[in-house]
Amino acid sequence: MLTALFGGTFDPIHYGHLRPALALAEEVGLTKINLLPNRIPPHKPQPEANTEQRLAMLKLAIADYSLFSIDTRELEPKLINQPSFTVDTLKSWRQQNGTQQSLAFIMGQDSLLSLPTWKEWQKLLDYCHLLICKRPGYAQTSSDSKLQKWIHEHQTKDSQALHQCPNGYIYFANTPLEAISATEIRHNIDNQQSCEKLLSPKVWQYIHENRLYKAKKC
Ligand code: ATP
Repeated sequence: MLTALFGGTFDPIHYGHLRPALALAEEVGLTKINLLPNRIPPHKPQPEANTEQRLAMLKLAIADYSLFSIDTRELEPKLINQPSFTVDTLKSWRQQNGTQQSLAFIMGQDSLLSLPTWKEWQKLLDYCHLLICKRPGYAQTSSDSKLQKWIHEHQTKDSQALHQCPNGYIYFANTPLEAISATEIRHNIDNQQSCEKLLSPKVWQYIHENRLYKAKKC
């Protein structure tokens, strides 16, 4: 079985996360995707919603899908002040599950392009495959020659290889382009614009009830 982790800040979770992940599962043959919320994202501004609120929104968003679960390992109290480095999370997953099981880490094209800023990024493939979802507005290749060479060396177009080997491949999926970001959602809410089409109705209601993402409380 190929286990998949989909890491993110999910501040909040939106259709730009869910729709590509659903399509990816179909394309690659994933029976479960574990959403992996971070506590402290190392590479971006800190989340506006707190950990409990982001987790609550994840639970609401996935309630109607058997495909999704939540992996809370990056939220463990012992990690409370530590940035959530993916390579460390993957090591902990391998310590728990051994080296033989196939593991994939899902990310958008923007995250792939930012990999050279990640801790021990070249070691990620020692623990998992990378499954890359399309994201509008981001280049298909990197201007970083080291990253581009690494991608070239590890890319596969064969989704079966992801099931057969425990780790080591990069797979570019043919997922739908969804021009949605959490940044845009937070900005729209703060400016009293509706976001109903960008995220699930239950998450939208939760945001509304908890008055999230409003710099000016009104
Ligand atoms: P923000 O706007 O706050 O930076 P975000 O919308 O990019 O957030 P994250 O939770 O940071 O959302 O993203 C988690 C993962 O989901 C990342 O790997 C990111 O590339 C991917 N992702 C987010 N939005 C999309 C999208 N619209 N299409 C494809 N992948 C996406």
